[in-house]
This record gives sequence, structure tokens and C-alpha cells, in this order.
Amino acid sequence: MTPADEERTPAVVVRFPQSRTAPAGSAGGYKELGIGAMARHLNMRKSQMTGHWCSRCNGMWFGYALEVECPQCGNRHG
Ligand SMILES: [Zn+2]
Repeated sequence: MTPADEERTPAVVVRFPQSRTAPAGSAGGYKELGIGAMARHLNMRKSQMTGHWCSRCNGMWFGYALEVECPQCGNRHG
């Protein structure tokens, strides 16, 4: 591996995840409710997950795009 290769690779990798992920941590001002059962089963990374809002918990949980069940309270209606 040449030094030139080392410099090129990270630049490409870093740019994508930052451009369109949901705010991480306290920035959004919502409670984080955890990870959906499906996403956990599939061993997904947070960058691959979709944020879902739970009106009962008043917070956000992350999971597979088609998941609907809040991991905290089981609410399936958003
Ligand atoms: Zn909930």
C-alpha cells in the first residue's frame, strides 16, 4: 500500500454517513428508546437504521425501515 492510497480511502468513506443521518445524542432534544427487535436480530449498524417516532414514549427509536413496534412500550402506531 502506498501513502497515496491511505489518504484517498478514508476521504471517501467518511463523507457518506455524515451527510444524511439523524442527529445523534442530545442534539435533537428527544429521548432515545433503543433499537428495534428486527434491527437487533439483523445485527444492523445505526447508520443503516431508520429513526422511528413513538408518541407514547415521546421519543425516537431506531430500527429496520419496515419495523413499526416501539422497543420500549410495544406501541405500533407511531
Ligand atoms: Zn414507545
